[in-house]
Amino acid sequence: MSDRIRCRCRRCTIRGLMGPGVIITVGVLFLFDQMRGGDFSFGNTYPVILIVIGVISLAAASAPSHGHISGPVPPAAPGGPGSAPPVPQNQFPGQGQGQ
Ligand SMILES: [Zn+2]
Repeated sequence: MSDRIRCRCRRCTIRGLMGPGVIITVGVLFLFDQMRGGDFSFGNTYPVILIVIGVISLAAASAPSHGHISGPVPPAAPGGPGSAPPVPQNQFPGQGQGQ
């Protein structure tokens, strides 16, 4: 969990709140179910989970991504097993295929 490099841009920070937000929401809804029941049973309140996911997704999508780091970027050890860096395709029109 802590071996991956975390991007600290605002978009990724908000996106990182998705897991804890859903877990806390489910816990609160089960707490309401245990305390009140009836209208607050989990069968009636589960759409709140979808609302929380939607709100967090919307906030993450609208947040700026300045300084975004895409993917793990090891500082001194490039090319670990299974994590090939993206190779830019050198496809310029007019170069090659012309002769
Ligand atoms: Zn980011």
